[in-house]
Parts: sequence; C-alpha cells; structure tokens
Amino acid sequence: MKIADILRHMESIAPLGLALSWDNVGLLIGQPDWDAEKALVTLDVTPQAVEEAINTGCRLVISHHPLIFKPIKSISNPLYIKLVQHGIAVICLHTNLDVAARSVNHLLAEKLGLKLIEPLSTETGSTSHSIAVYCPPEATERIKQAAWQAGAGRYGDYSNCATESEVTGYFSPGSSSQPYCDGADGCREHALHFVCDSLFLAQVLSAIRSVHPYETPLISHHPLQSVNPAYGLGLVGSFGDCISIGDIAEIVKAKLSCPQLKLWLAGYDSNHKITRIAVCGGSGASVLGIAERKAELFISGDISYHSFLDSRIPIIDAGHFYTEYPALSYIEEQLISLGISCSVLDRSAHEYSRDMQYI
Ligand SMILES: [Zn+2]
Repeated sequence: MKIADILRHMESIAPLGLALSWDNVGLLIGQPDWDAEKALVTLDVTPQAVEEAINTGCRLVISHHPLIFKPIKSISNPLYIKLVQHGIAVICLHTNLDVAARSVNHLLAEKLGLKLIEPLSTETGSTSHSIAVYCPPEATERIKQAAWQAGAGRYGDYSNCATESEVTGYFSPGSSSQPYCDGADGCREHALHFVCDSLFLAQVLSAIRSVHPYETPLISHHPLQSVNPAYGLGLVGSFGDCISIGDIAEIVKAKLSCPQLKLWLAGYDSNHKITRIAVCGGSGASVLGIAERKAELFISGDISYHSFLDSRIPIIDAGHFYTEYPALSYIEEQLISLGISCSVLDRSAHEYSRDMQYI
C-alpha cells in the first residue's frame, strides 16, 4: 500500500489541521509514493525502534512524538540517514491525535474504565467557521450534499448539519453578465448555512462552487468564537460511583501497569471520595487550571514541582509514557484495518520503560 493511502486514512481519524500550531505532524520522512506492507507503531522514533523496524522488515514507522520537531539546518542525524537508507517512512500523529474526536485521552479513559462526561479543554489547531451560501431552490440539495461530503456540517457527534431558509435575492447585472434568473422583481432563493472546521474550509468552498449554478455565487464565511465540541485536549469522566483518591491511584497504577506514580493530595485525605476525574495523557500541566474548575482530581503525566504545589485538586501523575502508551494499540488497529501487517513496539523495548530505574 502507498504511504499516501495510509496517511489519508490516518488523517481521517486525526486530521493534521487539528494539530496545535507549534507541532510537527504528518509524513516526516519518506515520500507519498513509497510502499509499505508492514509497519511499526511506537511512542518515539528511538534508535531501538529503528533497529526493530529494520530487523522486522517494516517500511513504515508511525510514532506519537515527532521525530523532527525543531527546524533543522542539515541532515546529519544518523537516525534520519538510517531511515532513508532503508526506505523507511515515518508518520507522526501527535497533538492532532491528542485532540481528535477519538483521541489519546479517550483511549486513556477507556483503559482506566472511566465513563466520559465532557471534554476538558476545547483547544485545538482548528477554528469553527460559518458559511452562508445563496442558491436557487432546485440547487439546494446538491449544494448541501457537496458541502457535507467535503467536511461541512460536522459538529460534536453530529454530521450533515445545515440550516435552510427561503429568501428573496436582488441584483443588477452588468453589461456582460449572464444571470441565472431575471432579477428585476427579486429571485426566489434558498439561504444555506453550515458550520465548518477550518481544516475543511478550502475544500468545502471549492465543492460548493463546483456545483453552484450561478455565474458568480455569493458565498460568505467567517470564523466563529464557538468551538466544535468534538475536539479538544483532555476529558472529564467518572467511575460511576464516588471512589476514594487512594483507590483511584491503585486503579491507575494497575490499569496502566506503571511501576510507580506520584499522588498529590492537595490537602485532602487519601480516603476522600470523589466523582469527577479529569484526564490528559502525556504532559497535562497546561490544562491543570481547567481541570481544577471542572473536576475533583486530575490524572496526567510530567507534572512539575510547582504545578503540584499550586494545584487545588489532587493529582495522580502516572508518567508521560504510561498515560500515552494505550493509544498505540488504536493506531495498530487502524493499520490492520487497512490490511497492513503491524505491531506495537513492546513496552520493554521502549527505552523509557526499559532503562528508567526507580531507586
Ligand atoms: Zn507525549
């Protein structure tokens, strides 16, 4: 299968346009017309992961963390050279997968057994737009279909959203204009409104124009202050019952198989029972303030000394690696659904898990 086809599928589950502005996602090594029948999924493209890919005949590595993150001035990194020499492509799904409709945090919450309540942060690399288009009634249906197929009208867990109303349009044609209807007394028209994420905006506008019968269709669009609730960083969930902080820590440790975790009590007793739990896999400190407003406890990784001290709610820091590792099997499932032979780099082969000692 071509890398381009694999990338297209991955974009359907984690659109690259959802990535935060500072990130670097997508095809980072290789070319779209390279072939790959076997892939390796890993959290990081480390020397160990590259050796594993070479030894097992993988022509594609999909990682969560970007192999290339900062701008580079020369290609001297032996890892990059080795990957190119062996014709191994690298695709990175990072913050686009963190904020997707089914995200790293959904997979973490599922692994922990949490029932979802609401998104935590609505931060993404995408913005919502409103699109208005005016058309003759007989063109309404095909314009709606074209816009929906191109990505308009997706909001929260709903698709094919639009509003439609009858309006009267007026215009005065120029000397060389070829109007669709005689506008002297006003044309009966339909006004269509769609919401559209910025990642689909260009293709939706193009799709509408391609099926619109007017010589010069009137299509207006503008960004919205509102956000699409389908996307965002972190989630709030619950185990269903009130459960003690200490018991939650035990559940997290067992379900994520982490060798140890940090439990910050924020002045509470470990027997204190809570219901609303915020999760954010990886480094979650940036959404801790939101977690304090929306939840009674925060599960994440990479929490700093000062973040612990400042937090008004208890925190379970299970580690960056252990809170993101559950997402890898989801990427594996997606590759297998494409017919790609695939494996996840074993926990014991991830350097962080293998070489980190707790002494
Ligand atoms: Zn991470």
